[in-house]
Amino acid sequence: MKNYIIPIFIPHYGCPHTCVFCNQRKITGIQTDVTQEFIQNTIEYHLNRIRGNKFIEVAFYGGSFTALPLSLQRKLLEPAYRYMQAKKIKSIRISTRPDCISSDILDNLAAFGVKTIELGAQSFNDSILARSERGHTVDDILRAAELVRGHGFCLGIQLMPGLPGDTWQTIMDSLSQTIALCPDFVRIYPTLVLIQTKLAQLYQKGDYQPLSLKQAIQYAALMKLTFIRHDIQVIRVGLQASEQLDDGETILAGPYHPAFGELVDSYLFKIQMDQLLEGLPTKYGEIIVHHHPKDTSKLRGNKNCNLGLWYKEYQLKNIILKQDLATLHHVVVEFQNIKYSLNSDLLVMI
Ligand code: SF4
Repeated sequence: MKNYIIPIFIPHYGCPHTCVFCNQRKITGIQTDVTQEFIQNTIEYHLNRIRGNKFIEVAFYGGSFTALPLSLQRKLLEPAYRYMQAKKIKSIRISTRPDCISSDILDNLAAFGVKTIELGAQSFNDSILARSERGHTVDDILRAAELVRGHGFCLGIQLMPGLPGDTWQTIMDSLSQTIALCPDFVRIYPTLVLIQTKLAQLYQKGDYQPLSLKQAIQYAALMKLTFIRHDIQVIRVGLQASEQLDDGETILAGPYHPAFGELVDSYLFKIQMDQLLEGLPTKYGEIIVHHHPKDTSKLRGNKNCNLGLWYKEYQLKNIILKQDLATLHHVVVEFQNIKYSLNSDLLVMI
């Protein structure tokens, strides 16, 4: 059954901090107060548009949900919980800061039907967390993750490669520490420089340099591949495009692309295909690439860059793309009557 998320954005609600990169109001695009009526109307709006059988969840995004007073958390959860009791939605999820988790808070969330908690970890390096003015430590993340798991919630972790002081080594270390927590899913948001943030000031003074788009794609791709290999679902890579992010004014610098996730998948296809083609006598040969129809544009690459590169690097005479596989992210390459199966994990001859 497909998931359907009804998003409720609570910009900067409850958050006692201002991280250097944060401009929640710009990211969410919502600057008004969130009331019970607003939540109910939002849920109704979506329910009236959902077709077919879907696993429907209400998700409270943005801000730091559990930093709100318990009474306000209950007030916000109440409308969603009513729909859950009426069996119109299946689950509720929230995102929050690691230092705003306690047993009492989790008991309250469970009582109102929350099933999934996403922790904004961002990095597993204390110095990077301090430079980002996160206001919490790695120990806070570990403690919160254990509590969330211990209370039976589904656990999500958000990571932000490219924070001040981040290097490939620290990113890899955050990756390993995240894997050690065995989250149910992760989100990867390469750091962007938004206007009206402290990071924007640091950037303008020359004290912070964001990742380039190319670096961010490569880092995010390798992170995604590693998570998949550890059976950890990657549910989002890069911020979702929105009018605000695309207005040409909100993002001052950094690796933003409205189709960032697609570029990452495209790069993953490239490295998997490279791994295969490098070992084959492809000169003047022909390959047939079987794949799922929804993967064609990712396989081709942005402006056909993958195809162009494979023709050039491996001196192929012909590349035939066949949309005849039923599994996404899976490719079977036929060369000289031998089939090679490529997936995120390994290369198998079939
Ligand atoms: S914890 Fe989240 S909402 Fe609060 S300032 Fe940081 S990024 Fe923004």
